[in-house]
Amino acid sequence: MRCVVCERLSFKAICNECLRKILKEEQHTRILEGGLKVHSFFSYASISPILLTKHHFWGHRILQKIAFHTFADFAEKFEFEEKVAAVAIDDRPINGYSHTAILIHALKSVSIIPVYGALRAKNSVKYSGQSYEFRRKNPRCFIASKNIKKFKYAILADDVVTSGLTLKEAKETLEKEGVDTLFALVLADAKDN
Ligand SMILES: [Zn+2]
Repeated sequence: MRCVVCERLSFKAICNECLRKILKEEQHTRILEGGLKVHSFFSYASISPILLTKHHFWGHRILQKIAFHTFADFAEKFEFEEKVAAVAIDDRPINGYSHTAILIHALKSVSIIPVYGALRAKNSVKYSGQSYEFRRKNPRCFIASKNIKKFKYAILADDVVTSGLTLKEAKETLEKEGVDTLFALVLADAKDN
């Protein structure tokens, strides 16, 4: 097969050289209006060839690998006074698996418990390529599951942050259930795209 990033022949879906290059990128934090902190691991430009493979049958293996080096690594160092829920933005499976479920699975640790299906969007409108105004007028309308109420704190997880509106809405939905969002973790920040 060929590496999805550099397209050179490779035994793996992403070659070691590309993986090393991507993992060398620095973490970045953006603070959304309203105060939610969003930590990202990559720029959108470097990770997009990988994220665009997510609908291929082997896409999840690459994502697992990346999640292991980022989300799992983060979770290992994370400490908190009580158990924190890891909540994915709409982890409904598409083509057999959910990319955001892979991310919260990687967060599982002493302090973090992944809660699958905690937030489901009633509105499945596609945001990709749409304006800020369109996104603002078409909220996701999240529904929180009952089992999230067992937690006082949550970490939100998604693959990409763009306007931040989805994360903000997710935070507000959890708040109504009495759950405080500590911060959000995403693979990439696409603010300038
Ligand atoms: Zn490569």
